[in-house]
Amino acid sequence: MDADAQRPRTATEPYRVHIETFGCQMNEYDSDLVRSLLTSAGFSFTEDRERADVVLMNTCAIRENAHNRVYGHLAELRPIKKQRNLVVGVLGCMAQNLKNDLLEAESTIDVLVGPDGYRRLPDLIHRAIASRDHGTTLKGLSLDLSEYETYEDIVPEQHGGVNGWIAVMRGCDNFCTFCVVPYTRGRERSRDPEGILREARRLVAQGYKQVTLLGQNVNSYRYDGWDFARLITAVADVAGIERVRFTSPHPKDFPPALLDAVAEHPKICKQIHLPLQSGNDRILHLMGRSYTRKDYLSLVEAIHARRADIVLSTDIICGFCTEHEEEFLDTHRTVQEVGYHSAFVFKYSERKHTIAARKYPDDIPDTVKGERVAKLVDLQKAISLGLNQRMIDRTVRVLVEGDAKRSSDQWMGRTDGGITVVWEKQDMPYIRYGDLVSVKVIRASATTLFGRPHPL
Ligand code: SAM
Ligand code: SF4
Repeated sequence: MDADAQRPRTATEPYRVHIETFGCQMNEYDSDLVRSLLTSAGFSFTEDRERADVVLMNTCAIRENAHNRVYGHLAELRPIKKQRNLVVGVLGCMAQNLKNDLLEAESTIDVLVGPDGYRRLPDLIHRAIASRDHGTTLKGLSLDLSEYETYEDIVPEQHGGVNGWIAVMRGCDNFCTFCVVPYTRGRERSRDPEGILREARRLVAQGYKQVTLLGQNVNSYRYDGWDFARLITAVADVAGIERVRFTSPHPKDFPPALLDAVAEHPKICKQIHLPLQSGNDRILHLMGRSYTRKDYLSLVEAIHARRADIVLSTDIICGFCTEHEEEFLDTHRTVQEVGYHSAFVFKYSERKHTIAARKYPDDIPDTVKGERVAKLVDLQKAISLGLNQRMIDRTVRVLVEGDAKRSSDQWMGRTDGGITVVWEKQDMPYIRYGDLVSVKVIRASATTLFGRPHPL
């Protein structure tokens, strides 16, 4: 521990909070909300856990490995907490899902707050600090789910870059049998479109070029006669926005008006993430997904009939309860048939409280789940490589996002369809983050297009 960390806080200094975020983009967004709420309440933030008075973990409950990472961090905090006064808070989905079990098992935790309880966080932290200063251990809880909370009036503290996020709805009413989200994030509720459009205009004024609309089930957005097609079109019409994306949609909510908006509006990106989960009807039914393989393939056809260049990606779960090899092969065939540009492939992970955990056996051995995942990942790599190679010699419009991961001598940006493009900075010394540039593709891997500036 450094000397500064051991230096006692003076009474005038704000308490320093360190926040770690696990899981999906919605959790990142919620951490930005929490930062904003705590800053207004007089707290400051530190990147350095050693200097923090308060450590918060914003957690995910979607798969078991997300839980395990949080338990790992809590174990690291135990000895630190013995050395000095430290308040530890667990926020988000895991707090909501495990509640008192977590408090009982982990004495390190002082504050437990679910996704609808963030407004109470400043007060709960102050109480925990006061209790700690008096040598007692008061536990602060806020775990009620709300049918209304959308944090409408809170402006999240975003981190710069080219993309700004806007959560347009929260919660989910679908109750897919494998999924914990309806239990951790509660009922579906949409935000007032006026507030969303105000947030989009503010992001543009701050210099963001792209906006991504966020929601657990983003395309089921509904508010006073507004649906998602109307909302995304209105956001794309905001002056100064170059690109609009959205995540994560459900295949059941793609009316023709939304497909038309994606295909036709020049500012709405030609990219749709279309979670499949399984390509077998019996498994889809068991999962409660409300579509069949045929329905899903008809939707893919309708998308590509409008524009063949709309880039598709997906989520798949392998080894769901009772999934036979033949049923998995239906998923394999579906992946081949659709030709996604990318896919997130997961082993099924049984989650407490879900319908599947209550009704079906988690009977596929972990090794079999792993083999199925590996088969799909291999197939997807081959498909991605083939699709990317077809881009060679084409010129693509790229929004410049920053340095490439592997080298600061290279720029990284994305095509309208969301494909990563990398090229040498020396070939384009005059550009800046947020510029839209034309790049000619000269080489391709399964994940990246490599380019050269295209003379205009
Ligand atoms: N709302 C989106 C939809 O309906 O497709 C998905 C959102 S979910 C937070 C992200 C992905 O996590 C899901 O598409 C699913 O593939 C995966 N997932 C959710 N629950 C899971 C579980 N119990 N085990 C494995 N993967 C899971
Ligand atoms: Fe979970 Fe998505 Fe199904 Fe909602 S629609 S229950 S978030 S998988």
